[in-house]
Amino acid sequence: MRKPQYAEVMYLDFNGFFASCSQFAHPHLRGKPVGIVPHEGNGNTCIIACSAEAKKFGVQNVMPLPLVRRLCPEIILWPQEVDLYRRAHNYLMAEVESAIPIDAVKSIDELCSVISDDDRKDPTRLGREIKRRLLNEVGPWITCSIGFAPNRLLAKIACKDGGKDGLNVWQPEHVPAFLSHILLKDIPGIGPGTLKRLYQARIGTTDCLRNAAPKHLRQIWGNVAGERMSYAINGFDIKAQPTARSQYGHGRVLPPAFRSLEACRHVTRILAVKAARRMRRDHWSSSKLILGLSGYFGGHWSRGHHMAAVCDDMGVLEALERLWFQAMRELPPGIVILKADVSLDDLSLTAQRQLDFLADDEHVRRRQEAITEALDALNRRYGSTVVTVGPWSNPAADRLGAKISFTRIPRREDAW
Ligand SMILES: [Mg+2]
Repeated sequence: MRKPQYAEVMYLDFNGFFASCSQFAHPHLRGKPVGIVPHEGNGNTCIIACSAEAKKFGVQNVMPLPLVRRLCPEIILWPQEVDLYRRAHNYLMAEVESAIPIDAVKSIDELCSVISDDDRKDPTRLGREIKRRLLNEVGPWITCSIGFAPNRLLAKIACKDGGKDGLNVWQPEHVPAFLSHILLKDIPGIGPGTLKRLYQARIGTTDCLRNAAPKHLRQIWGNVAGERMSYAINGFDIKAQPTARSQYGHGRVLPPAFRSLEACRHVTRILAVKAARRMRRDHWSSSKLILGLSGYFGGHWSRGHHMAAVCDDMGVLEALERLWFQAMRELPPGIVILKADVSLDDLSLTAQRQLDFLADDEHVRRRQEAITEALDALNRRYGSTVVTVGPWSNPAADRLGAKISFTRIPRREDAW
């Protein structure tokens, strides 16, 4: 395994992305504490993101509204603007790409790049150049933090650690000193479960983690990820493993008018069709549909339904109906649902899937897929919901499923 001599990777993260995009688009929000909420007229929700000005009051992303109001009474609550975030993402990526090729887009506001040989000894110039371009082309409202380090994990830690003007350069010889003040919980890849196991193994600091044997960490993690952590934290060039798609899902915090079981059922139909449409676009089929409901009935209800690998709307909606049949039987009538999630699990590539021969439904499946294909073509041509399977009641002006997400970059096709 290679140990780079210089910083080779750049990690860039836009600061307070959702709030700064809204401040950028609406000048009256600039310089003010802003909290982004899922939709207007909310009762008991939380903010999903907040501006730098709000953070100064102690407000954090994903904080319940009552607490936010107590910390910062003057906070301006602003509904999410999915389409704006999507456009801003594309624009900002193009701006960064004019300075350096992007190696991987990690989320809606994070990316990483491998830097050229010329920049490795002193990447500060490159970092300043990117920041200068953003300032000139976008303005001072959307800013970013940049970290340079020998590998991606260290570059991400350097980036999150801030540094002077949000620009941190970690050359290999300084990595141990820089790392020693980073807490274990702030290292990407160490969740609460792993943290607990590390403490039990008497590894309580980043220095201890760095000095632990790769085999030991493998044991603590329970898989090869521990060994990879050991090499990455010690500055080796360790490539990210390709992650396989595991599911397509959509979730939604429900607007007040859609919180009954019956109204929520309509919403989940839309979520399911949206997820299925995204899945088809990527050529996957799913063997399991999961419906999750949360609300005022003592927590969370979730059930899965197995299907023969399907990708068509009818197959997915049929499974959803079965889950709703179960939900109606198991949940007390009249309850209030606050959030609904639908996800398509157990994926296989449509071209390689195993059809369920026992069910002998191949001809039905093929016919339904042909119908779905025709519907998709019509919708692509004449507008996203010109034809649908069954009733379609979309909460007005509220784009279901096109919610904001840090990990998925919404596409224009999703904004309907
Ligand atoms: Mg960010």
